[in-house]
Amino acid sequence: WAWLVLAANCFVWPHIAYRIARGSPDPYRAELHNLMCDSACGGAWVAAIGFNIVPSAVLVAMLAMDKAAVGGLRFLARCLIAQVGYAAVMAFITGLPLHLHSGVVAVLASLPLLLAYPVTVGYTAYRLARRVRQQNDVLAALSHMDGLTRLPNRTHWEQAVASEFARCRRIGHSSAVVMMDIDHFKSVNDQHGHQAGDAALRAVAAILRDTLRLSDLPGRYGGEEFGVVLPGIDIAGASAIAERIRKRSPRITTTARGSRAPTARSTRRRPRGATARWDTISARPRPESFARVSLTPIDADARLADSSSAIFPGEETMSLKERRRFVAGMGALFAGGLLSTAARAAMGPEDKFDLVVKGGELLDPSQNLRGKRDIGMRFGRIEAVEADIPAARALRVLDASGRLVLPGLIDIHSHVYPYGSAIGIPADELVQFQGTTTMVSAGDAGANNFAAFRRYIQAQTRTRLYAFVHIANIGLSGFPEPELYHLGFAHPEECGKTVAENADIAIGVKVRMSENVINQAGIEGGGARVMCHIGGVATPALMGEILNTLRQGDILTHCYSGFPNLAGRFTNIVQDGKLMPEALASKKRGVIFDIGHGGGSFDFTVAEAAMQQGAAPDTISSDIHVFSGNSPGMPYLTWVMSKFMALGFTLEQVVRMATVVPAGLINRLPKLGTLQVGAPADCSVVEIVQGPVEFVDTRNNKRSGKSYIKPVQSVLAGVPFGRPYHAPFSVK
Ligand SMILES: [Zn+2]
Repeated sequence: WAWLVLAANCFVWPHIAYRIARGSPDPYRAELHNLMCDSACGGAWVAAIGFNIVPSAVLVAMLAMDKAAVGGLRFLARCLIAQVGYAAVMAFITGLPLHLHSGVVAVLASLPLLLAYPVTVGYTAYRLARRVRQQNDVLAALSHMDGLTRLPNRTHWEQAVASEFARCRRIGHSSAVVMMDIDHFKSVNDQHGHQAGDAALRAVAAILRDTLRLSDLPGRYGGEEFGVVLPGIDIAGASAIAERIRKRSPRITTTARGSRAPTARSTRRRPRGATARWDTISARPRPESFARVSLTPIDADARLADSSSAIFPGEETMSLKERRRFVAGMGALFAGGLLSTAARAAMGPEDKFDLVVKGGELLDPSQNLRGKRDIGMRFGRIEAVEADIPAARALRVLDASGRLVLPGLIDIHSHVYPYGSAIGIPADELVQFQGTTTMVSAGDAGANNFAAFRRYIQAQTRTRLYAFVHIANIGLSGFPEPELYHLGFAHPEECGKTVAENADIAIGVKVRMSENVINQAGIEGGGARVMCHIGGVATPALMGEILNTLRQGDILTHCYSGFPNLAGRFTNIVQDGKLMPEALASKKRGVIFDIGHGGGSFDFTVAEAAMQQGAAPDTISSDIHVFSGNSPGMPYLTWVMSKFMALGFTLEQVVRMATVVPAGLINRLPKLGTLQVGAPADCSVVEIVQGPVEFVDTRNNKRSGKSYIKPVQSVLAGVPFGRPYHAPFSVK
């Protein structure tokens, strides 16, 4: 019968304990109690086997390990006391038979527990720690969020207002703050109940999110009041945006039950198939809602002075309900964590993801993940990556079935300064051609025109933009004239200052070494990362010199350029089919080899020879600009990636070179270039189109491939980007 009891202890009791803990109003307490029972039983078994030394020691040690892990030393002490007590009782019942000596059989029988248990406990502890880290990410997001509308709450929003005012005063440009409220909100609440009121608030929040530019910051000021910070805009621009919000708002209709109803132009129109009473709406549809837009210029200093008392009002940052849900989530985490995995992220049962990318095959080299997964996005972050997220848990579903879902693609060499540099192209308009969610301007702006890049381009662009600052103070505005023909344009000090003053977006210095420029000038980058452009360098000796100057972490772009110099000779990293020893040395030193295909900088023969002789690429980039985009090589990022598949790289390798590797070089935003939980909610949905395909380089060499990557759709910060088009398109 002892075996029966033992079997029951091992196989039945854990399930009972799990049930008890789950069913208890206080799962954590209940589980501690269960663990104490465990210890007591352990004590009884030790006595039952006559204190046989090896198995007893193993049993006591293993039981002590998880107690200390769960409840700390004090809890461990209590468990030990229970253990000793039960051992004494059992010893008394069985008449204290002693079998201290452990035979070989007893030792062998103890081994599986000794080996397996610590690994299990260690692994669960690791999973728990990981889960807690994820919860902390969510908590950080929640703590400045209004639970109902998911807009920044008042405290957070007012901090944003304060810092924008400070920025205005420092830079001397104008920004606007729009305050708005819903008219007759009280009557909506009175006539249709608070659920209709809540739905109305959520609907307004959705309008704000949809209508504003990416750099604008809406917030819930309290009650039915909202505020929006509009950086870098004057009063005319602000009233245009406010007017747009006002025009969109009367269209909203919501059902009284708080669920999302289709928006309709006319409140009288019934949705097809709807049986519910449609006249319960009117939550926000009154034409007089936001009826007036009136704007008054305010003096930032005066405004700051009299609102200073209101800046930190000490309001609740989470609603009571939200907090309860969160606490419940944490309780379940601790109780469930060690026994199973059950704990969900801090989502209540009725919470929904803002967007679920559903049915796609994920390919994320950063975590060696490839398989069918759904991605749940909320608050602009990835909150869940699971085999199946039911559509019911999503406010909006993006169907990716039959497609491949990649981390948002990153293009580390592009020219995305339209109107400002001579070759720039708008980053957002490239989304449908190359699926990018992050792009890096490769030296379009220098010290003189970087401020304009920041204010008029980076701040207005939905694509995440970073930049290398050109060492020439005019950037590429003189193109096609090589900006460094006149070395007077090179201002390393000003350039360094610009990088330092824009540390959030400026990731290094761009130097263009072409033709005969910089014979003796050398490369100046100070401490910053240097991106060095090569192609058409005057002599092989100078090329060797340039390569020798690059340090670990610097980027050699156009690394497989086959561009001839002014004399028509080829002075690339491959000379007469041989990789230059300086190139191999720099590769070994940790210089990043970047493609930067462009209109004249990628040669299959150079690439093949270099790769064969040990200089494989690190990052794939387009060098897309208004000229290269029209060249036969079609250097769109996904097309360049496809060329490398034709050269023998796997899909996973080319994705790695356009996501996690460039993200590491940018190194500004945590978890860029990955689909991990907690990462910014960016992804690129693509299709692999089976060939045959013919690829052309910039010297009319042709290679054939079996397939190519076709961008379908991107998601940026949890919002679909590219297609479906946003309406009105111009505002985003
Ligand atoms: Zn370029």
